[in-house]
Amino acid sequence: MTPLPRLQVVALPLTTRFRGITVREVAFVEGAGPDGAPGRGEWSPFVEYDAATAEPWLRCAEEAAAGAWPTALRDSVPVNVTVPACSPEEAHRITVAGGCRTAKVKVAERGQTLADDVARVEAVRDALDTAPGAAGLERGRVRVDANGGWSVDEAVRAIALLDRAAGGLEYVEQPCATVEELAAVRRRVDVPVAADESIRRAADPYRVRDLEAADIAVLKVQPLGGVAACLRIAADIGLPVVVSSALESSVGIAAGLALAAALPELPHACGLATVQLLAADVVADPLLPVDGVLPVLPAPGPRPLPELLERYAAAPDRVAWWQERLAATLAVRQDRRS
Ligand SMILES: [Mg+2]
Repeated sequence: MTPLPRLQVVALPLTTRFRGITVREVAFVEGAGPDGAPGRGEWSPFVEYDAATAEPWLRCAEEAAAGAWPTALRDSVPVNVTVPACSPEEAHRITVAGGCRTAKVKVAERGQTLADDVARVEAVRDALDTAPGAAGLERGRVRVDANGGWSVDEAVRAIALLDRAAGGLEYVEQPCATVEELAAVRRRVDVPVAADESIRRAADPYRVRDLEAADIAVLKVQPLGGVAACLRIAADIGLPVVVSSALESSVGIAAGLALAAALPELPHACGLATVQLLAADVVADPLLPVDGVLPVLPAPGPRPLPELLERYAAAPDRVAWWQERLAATLAVRQDRRS
C-alpha cells in the first residue's frame, strides 16, 4: 500500500463570521507539477462535509498540484464586490471601497424586510454611478443573491421592485431553494436567474439545464471536481458561467481563476474576490482585486510560503483529523472504482 500523502494544514482567521465560522481550515496536497517542479493544490472542503462529498474537492487539489489546468484564454478576470445584508450607508461604502464594476448584493436576509433590500440596492446603484472614475466606464452592474430565501410569489414581487431600484438587475441568484421553484420564477420574470446552491454536485448542472431553471450557472471548481471537469460541464449545459469561490485561500482562488480564464465566453464578473474575507493568507501576493480584476496565474498557481504555512499551521490534533479525512476520502474513491 502506498503511504498517504502528507497534508499541510493551516487555520486562517476570517475578518468576520461567515457560514458560521471564524477560522477557515485549509489543507494543501503536493504533487509533481509541470517540468517536475513541486506543485501544490488546495483541498478545503468545509469541515462538516463527509468523505464522499470531499472527494471531488480532492480531485481539484490534485489537478492543481499537477499543474494540469487547461489553456488560459485571458490574463485577467473581472470580479464582483459582495455587499452583505447591511445598512444602505454601509452598502454604499463597501461598493465604493471594492473598486469593482459589478456588485453582488445579498437580499432576503432573515429578520429584514423587502424595503431594507430595496434601500440597499438603491445605495449600491448610486455608489456604482458616482464612484471615482465611473463616468468614463461602462455602467456598473448590480446582481442580487437571495440564497434561496424567497417563495416563488415573494421572489416575483421582490425581483420587480429590486430591478427598478437597481436601474435594471444583471441577474437574480438563487431566488428560491429548489430547482423546481427556480424554474417557476424564471417563467414569471424577465430578469435572468442564476443557480448557485442548486449546483453542488456534478450532476446538478444538468438537472438545472433539463428543468430550464436558470439562465446562468454559478460553478465552483472544488465541489465539481476541478477546472477541466467544470469546463466540460460548462460546454455540456450551454449556459453562461459565473465562477465563484468556496472561501479558499489564494492558492484555491487561482484554480477558480484558471477556470474563468479557460471558458470560451465570460460575459459576467466572477465571484472570486473573497480573499478579503480572510484576515491571513499563505502567499506573498494575495489574490485581491485591483481595478475590479484578478490576474490569471500560470499553473500550478501561487506557491504557499513556508513561513506563512508555519505561522498559520493548524494544531496537531487538527492536522491528524485532516490526515484521517484524507484516508477516508481516498477509501471512498477506491470503493467507487472497485
Ligand atoms: Mg450565492
